[in-house]
Amino acid sequence: MSGVIERYRSFFDINAQFPIVTLNEGNTPLIQAPAIASKTNVPGLQVFLKFEGLNPTGSFKDRGMTYAVSQAKAQGATHIICASTGNTSASAAAYGARAQLKTLIILPEGKVALGKLSQAILYGADIVEITGNFDQALDVVRILGKAQGVAIVNSINPFRIEGQKTGAFEVCDQLGGKAPDYHFIPVGNAGNITAYWLGYKAYHAAGRIQSLPKMFGYEAEGSAAIVKGHKIENPETLATAIRIGNPASWQGAEAARDESGGKIDCVTDDEIVAAYQFLASKEGIFCEPASAASVAGLFKACSQNLVAQNSVVTCVLTGNGLKDPDNAIRFGKSEKITLPPDPQQIATHLGLTL
Ligand SMILES: *Cc1c(COP(=O)(O)O)cnc(C)c1O
Repeated sequence: MSGVIERYRSFFDINAQFPIVTLNEGNTPLIQAPAIASKTNVPGLQVFLKFEGLNPTGSFKDRGMTYAVSQAKAQGATHIICASTGNTSASAAAYGARAQLKTLIILPEGKVALGKLSQAILYGADIVEITGNFDQALDVVRILGKAQGVAIVNSINPFRIEGQKTGAFEVCDQLGGKAPDYHFIPVGNAGNITAYWLGYKAYHAAGRIQSLPKMFGYEAEGSAAIVKGHKIENPETLATAIRIGNPASWQGAEAARDESGGKIDCVTDDEIVAAYQFLASKEGIFCEPASAASVAGLFKACSQNLVAQNSVVTCVLTGNGLKDPDNAIRFGKSEKITLPPDPQQIATHLGLTL
């Protein structure tokens, strides 16, 4: 199976010769989540999880990166550059390596999850940590991107948003040619909610679906610029992928909300952690904390009676849990003890009768 550009070629403005840089991204599973549905207490609710952690670098960023890097390469760039909370840098470094471009990465110091950092390092990017946050890193990138031969591959690059629209196409295809009634998604820089909404609208315009979902986006409470209506100078949340105080696609997120009749709200870190634990221990799905904001948002919206009975809901799980082993160990409920290799002793500990 080829990547997202090839599969949805008619939705991209490219000719037959356009050279595509791909790692066969996309085609991620849409997994039904009965335990989540039942926990909402909304009668007849069907919940599906779009598990983007199964992309080549473990997050949805690959859908946009394939197109942004293909375009950069086609236009003769020698370098790609991005600011990142982690996943954009992992994706850029992978596609940069694939395209034989030099990848330059600007990170907020000490706030990038271990798995993401290890990816960028092994893919061979040049990495600079700044003594500042993501928003400051992006400000730096906007300027460095003016250098000769350098292409910016953050979601301020419209090709990123174009590529990410394919997430919406896949959801509709997987639901049998239907849009969900509600679409729940984490919001950080707000590129993804913007992209999904454009994707649903494009599929609707093309006659592939007959209705549009209501878009429900969730920021983390300590980084909730859109909800609070102003930039957050020092954004905080343990969900580092959405630790962003001045979303670049702010207007796109508001348009998605307003045009669809949806909502942008926020969830606390406690709510995020509870959803993260629930996903793993009750559905068997290991996502990263930021991803769980969509499910935390669903629980919150259902408790506010915002979700109608018998509806179909999709929640995007944006990244793989393996990205952030520190938080998994911190919030995992299992206990590990060390014992000698003595079956009787181990059986007693585990409550088994031999
Ligand atoms: C990038 C990212 C987000 C936020 O997406 P935006 O497009 O910046 O809103 C959420 N979760 C994960 C895992 C991410 O990597």
